[in-house]
Amino acid sequence: MRKIQMVDLKGQYEHIKEQVNTSIMEVIESTAFINGPEVQNFQKELEDYLGVKHVIPCANGTDALQIAMMGLGLQPGDEVITADFTFAATVEVIALLQLTPVLVDVDPINFNIDIEAIKKAITPKTKAIVPVHLFGLAANMDAIMEIANDHNLYVIEDNAQGIGSNYTSKDGSKTKTGGIGHIGSTSFFPSKNLGCYGDGGAIFTNDDALAHTIRGIVNHGMYIRYQHDVVGVNSRLDSIQAAVLRAKLPHLDTYNAARQNAARKYSDAFKDIEGITTPTGYCDAGASICDTCDCHVFHQYTLRIRNADRDALVQHLNDNGIPCGVYYPIPLHLQKAYADSRYKEADFPVTNQLVKEVISLPMHTELDDEQINFITKTIINFVAN
Ligand SMILES: *Cc1c(COP(=O)(O)O)cnc(C)c1O
Repeated sequence: MRKIQMVDLKGQYEHIKEQVNTSIMEVIESTAFINGPEVQNFQKELEDYLGVKHVIPCANGTDALQIAMMGLGLQPGDEVITADFTFAATVEVIALLQLTPVLVDVDPINFNIDIEAIKKAITPKTKAIVPVHLFGLAANMDAIMEIANDHNLYVIEDNAQGIGSNYTSKDGSKTKTGGIGHIGSTSFFPSKNLGCYGDGGAIFTNDDALAHTIRGIVNHGMYIRYQHDVVGVNSRLDSIQAAVLRAKLPHLDTYNAARQNAARKYSDAFKDIEGITTPTGYCDAGASICDTCDCHVFHQYTLRIRNADRDALVQHLNDNGIPCGVYYPIPLHLQKAYADSRYKEADFPVTNQLVKEVISLPMHTELDDEQINFITKTIINFVAN
């Protein structure tokens, strides 16, 4: 059996090596390192893929979120509601801009921001909601957009884990995540579903004026050369990274299908096992079931271990040469940087439980049946004993 890896970037590279190497060499030969044609071409190709009017590439997914909030003109003191159970980048940029983060609990079925909790958290100061399509599963965007419309709020989709996911609305229409809210962001960190070979990110919007504002913000607040109209940042996608992404984008659907396929095999193996909850294919707990599960692109395949010691399982897997991850071990509201006296433990029953139970298994495009069988057998043996 091949050595099991959490993410197999080398195996994936082997299949696209020639194209990637040629594209990188072309950038070097052209010396168009900054904002070269590869960046513009990638931008257009990603716009087409996502069905979104504007893609603005930038340096990483954290910048993308920050720039999205700057572009919307959010002001210090504005409240921004987001999930307690996510990667810290989401809340970090809210705090960095001196906006007020308002963390709320998540849904126990799909791990995404809880709709009732959003409603309860809204105050006259609320300006935006940031749903995260956690682990690659689309959040309940119909309900979130409805709340946003009712209360005149912006929706910023953190799509760092969800690129390629198709959200199915109540009316049956499908939209790629990231293009549903007023603005979306993503990350091209190497291990993300569409990863480059360094850092990268992008912002998406269908709003022409907002896109124009953001194109200036990413470039030092310049709309005319050496004329700085707003305080901006320097956040660019390197041409070399754009070249890598152009080579990989045509494969994104195949990559996501390989992840979904591995996820199905995992879930089949665990389906009758007491004490293990497999990830749901529901993008919208209770309302619409995605049989094809194309609303879930399995950035992570995450189990809940309910009757066994999760940490002992992590150790057991590591002892057997199986890498795994705990995303995320500490709720954001309990992190020193984001603690706030307004938060009460009773407000976060789901997150507080999930951090004790979740375990993410190896998930990438190169997993084979032998590896999946070994992983599932090792877990089932542990849980059954
Ligand atoms: C990875 C990630 C980010 C940040 O992306 P970087 O490119 O690493 O800055 C933001 N939000 C979520 C949910 C992520 O998973």
